[in-house]
Amino acid sequence: MLKEKLKKERKRRLIAFCVSFFLPGVGQLTRKRIGSGFFFILVTVLSLLFLKRIWKGWSPAVISLFIGYSLLWVLNLLDAYKGPVYHKPPCRRACPADIDVPGYIELIRRGRYSEALELIALKAPLPGVLGYVCLAPCEEKCSRTGMEGSVLIRHLKLKAAVKGELAFEVPQQKKHHRVAVIGSGPAGLTAAHYLAEKGYKVTIFERQEKLGGMLRYGIPSYRLPREMLDLEIDRITRDRVEVKTGVKIGEDIPFSEVEKDFDAVIVAPGDALSRTLNLEGIDLKGVHYALEFLEKANRGEKVPIGEKVVVIGGGNVAVDCAKTSLRLGARSVKMVALETRDLSSPDRLPASDREIEEVEEEGVEILGSLGPRKIIGENGRVKALETIKCTRVYDEKGRFAPQFDDKAETPVIEADSIIIAIGQKPDISFLPEDVRFLKNFRTTRKGLFFVPGSLMVAEAVGRGRKAAEQVDRYFKSPLRRFLDQLFSFELYIKPARLGRPEPADPAAVRKEIPEERIKDFRTIEKPLSDEEAMNEARRCLQCPFRFRV
Ligand SMILES: Cc1cc2nc3c(=O)[nH]c(=O)nc-3n(C[C@H](O)[C@H](O)[C@H](O)COP(=O)(O)OP(=O)(O)OC[C@H]3O[C@@H](n4cnc5c(N)ncnc54)[C@H](O)[C@@H]3O)c2cc1C
Ligand code: SF4
Repeated sequence: MLKEKLKKERKRRLIAFCVSFFLPGVGQLTRKRIGSGFFFILVTVLSLLFLKRIWKGWSPAVISLFIGYSLLWVLNLLDAYKGPVYHKPPCRRACPADIDVPGYIELIRRGRYSEALELIALKAPLPGVLGYVCLAPCEEKCSRTGMEGSVLIRHLKLKAAVKGELAFEVPQQKKHHRVAVIGSGPAGLTAAHYLAEKGYKVTIFERQEKLGGMLRYGIPSYRLPREMLDLEIDRITRDRVEVKTGVKIGEDIPFSEVEKDFDAVIVAPGDALSRTLNLEGIDLKGVHYALEFLEKANRGEKVPIGEKVVVIGGGNVAVDCAKTSLRLGARSVKMVALETRDLSSPDRLPASDREIEEVEEEGVEILGSLGPRKIIGENGRVKALETIKCTRVYDEKGRFAPQFDDKAETPVIEADSIIIAIGQKPDISFLPEDVRFLKNFRTTRKGLFFVPGSLMVAEAVGRGRKAAEQVDRYFKSPLRRFLDQLFSFELYIKPARLGRPEPADPAAVRKEIPEERIKDFRTIEKPLSDEEAMNEARRCLQCPFRFRV
């Protein structure tokens, strides 16, 4: 439906453009843009009157008037087509995927969930995934944050994904260019979607047996139900994208072969390797690495972790390791992190407030300002973790430069398992050695585009879409690119009426109680009810149409 609206909107804009070509300003009037319409009419009339007064053949004054007016005439054409541009609200500016937040919130307010979903999918083809797991930087910046609390933007997205219906078009006319996408995380899936939408023949190569990347093998199902993930992946790929799973590029197929067989290649391998620690005892039995540990748990494999688990790390991945350990049967789980538990400190834990709150509710103890000194073993197995006091994590310039106090007394923590969750790094050993990474996802090799790993799903989605745009540009002539740019426009969903903003508290998010949720991997959060979603949507101030920035 929204696609239809977009088509109609383009038609109306073209009509306004044509009318203003012959009658400057009148095209704007047909679009009820009285101010700018009368402005261009007035300028045209005054220019003609002035020309009549000074006309004595092609004098310098006439030529100057002619040039000046021509520039205004071009401006009039652009204005007639492009229309007004509203500023981006703080939520949208913070969104790495550039989703039109007030637009979809307004559609939800009108009860048009499917259109809201379509609007989100113009920028992000995984709305349900984002609804469940997005770290929501938009909410931190929302104008309501300083009042009663941010609009629950992520939950509204989830509501649209659960209640709305969405199907992606299968383009009938295919372009002859073939594009390979290596990696099927959110970046690869998003790139594949937008390229398929434009009619390219897309093939995804994925080393795992199923698509999804970290969405499937990293993020546990208590945060992202697999039904939603499967639904959204199926929507992107079915009849649109060729999928080759269980194929590791560099091992099963050499990269050179992919480069030879395709006109362009997008490499989106994420950060697949766990960082390790140079620590005494690191090779003992019972030491696990976060990504491998979570992957096994997400596959439903048995991971023998014992009763006492220590997780080293203070980020969201460490929190997931701690929560997963509880669900696998551990009785005592502790997190040891260099950063402090004091969330107001600049040296605070990197995990989000929501994750810290949840993991503590579930009974995990967070031991901040501590680093690992050594792992103590017995009979080749982990027995305990010896710790060291961390006095500072970042230096004055904000660089990671931890300092330790060797003398301070610190606990020795008993453990059956220790999970190292101190970060991830990419594995791009399959790429040719001479490749260099340039701006805009380009590389020094023709037709090769690279999407680096992202800290959050929304960022990966934004990057995947931009990489697809770059591939599309790569196949187009400079003139075509220029025209595309010139005739692009934004579809604004304007609120029918802007009432006075009333104070209103955000809805209370419903979750399983901690004692219940640690029993298994069922999803913790529940979507908003219809009424809650409606009230929440009404809380949005519709900043682009209310404030001028
Ligand atoms: C445990 C965990 C929890 C997280 N929680 C959140 C969260 O709550 N919210 C959030 O926003 N973000 C979260 N993230 C971050 C988020 O998952 C990543 O930002 C995102 O997945 C990055 O997407 P990507 O497509 O770049 O990479 P990935 O998702 O890593 O996908 C890359 C894909 O490429 C494949 N691949 C790599 N090399 C090859 C090869 N040679 N051949 C074929 N295939 C290959 C991999 O198998 C993988 O499927 C979490 C990450 C982890 C690890
Ligand atoms: S009030 Fe609405 S438009 Fe304004 S920042 Fe919050 S969500 Fe965005």
